[in-house]
Amino acid sequence: MNVLLIGSGGREHALAWRLAQSKGLTKLYAAPGNPGIAEHAELVALDAADHRAVIDFCHRHSIGLVVIGPEAPLVDGLADNIRMMGLPVFGPNKAAAQLEGSKGFTKQICTRANIPTAAYAKVTSRDGALAALGDFGLPVVIKADGLAAGKGVTVAMTRAEAEAAIADLFSVPRAEAVIEEFLEGEEVSLFVLTDGTALMPFGTAQDHKRVGDGDTGPNTGGMGAYSPAPVLTAALEQQAIDEIVAPTVAAMAAAGMPFSGVLYAGLMLTAEGPKLIEYNARFGDPECQVLMLRYQGDLLALLLAVANGTLADQPAPVFAPDTALTVVMAANGYPGTPEAGGRIAGIAAAEAGGAQVFQAGTRRDGDALVASGGRVLAVTAMAPEIAAAQQAAYDAVAKIDFPGGFNRRDIGWREIARQG
Ligand code: ATP
Repeated sequence: MNVLLIGSGGREHALAWRLAQSKGLTKLYAAPGNPGIAEHAELVALDAADHRAVIDFCHRHSIGLVVIGPEAPLVDGLADNIRMMGLPVFGPNKAAAQLEGSKGFTKQICTRANIPTAAYAKVTSRDGALAALGDFGLPVVIKADGLAAGKGVTVAMTRAEAEAAIADLFSVPRAEAVIEEFLEGEEVSLFVLTDGTALMPFGTAQDHKRVGDGDTGPNTGGMGAYSPAPVLTAALEQQAIDEIVAPTVAAMAAAGMPFSGVLYAGLMLTAEGPKLIEYNARFGDPECQVLMLRYQGDLLALLLAVANGTLADQPAPVFAPDTALTVVMAANGYPGTPEAGGRIAGIAAAEAGGAQVFQAGTRRDGDALVASGGRVLAVTAMAPEIAAAQQAAYDAVAKIDFPGGFNRRDIGWREIARQG
């Protein structure tokens, strides 16, 4: 079967690498892809925002499955238009992708299905937001929603900080926000495949959002991850599925917007049990890189079963029991303005030691590989214990020559500290 993969990040490189090992794959295309993905796929210059062009391409190249990696095309309804043409697609429709695209929508689903999450108030004016603040203690969390999204999340320690965040958020017209109770605990990611009805737990991971060692500095897209995340024990995982993910999938189906794809639940492990922080409607990046290293099954068969609504017939996924750990190498300046054009060498040497180097923001410049984005490489290794996986990943990082880049030195620190 021919497959079209949409995206160009480290997540998509990991998906391409695993798809390329599937027995049923005839030819993999990727749009737009990157030089790493090009080792497994033919790159095509398709604009994912041009749905007609994507569909035309699928018809001309007998595509049997489209796999959508990033969130933007999902929120933009690309999956809807592909499905409407009768083509199998891995990724939710626009309405279902609201679980990622709209915090207010997700909170409504949580209320309807009685899902444990932070108490919240949806507000549409500055005065409304200030009035709602009185219902919450401190710290309090303020999140932009709807048209003002992109302004991010503020965890305000004081009333003054909260008021300043609200003033900033409502400085644009028609802003919307969610004010939330602060949840105390450790964060963990849970991935579940679903075709709208059947559920298949697909691994756990812990991400490292902050740019600096010890979880300091500004937030990023993710500086590293490891899987599995033992802090989410089997019992807690089952509780999260029973109380959070399964009721969400059922509520979405009941509302006429079944979610088909991978549901990525960002959870806070509180003293009262797991609570939902957020949903994403696609694999995490870099969590996908560690999941793909551990996943041992036929990825194409699995994603196709999700797309075709036959997930219930699939066997449970087989993951290596080992821990996979990935270290993101980012261009200097990230998460601000990253330096472009920095030369990268040594990937083959790093991989010769057993690591997998997934590429994200890279491009070819003649014979050289150079940086072209914020997050550039995800250097990923696997070992029976997390400490050994960390060592193997950093040994591989040491073989990579990327003077224009940097990386965190402590990916996996929480779990390594816990294991003493
Ligand atoms: P991203 O998609 O990058 O994770 P986002 O803009 O969708 O971010 P959230 O995931 O909702 O926003 O929040 C970002 C981070 O803020 C969370 O990962 C968590 O660390 C913190 N956070 C969010 N909500 C809460 C909460 N209610 N209590 C404590 N911390 C929170």
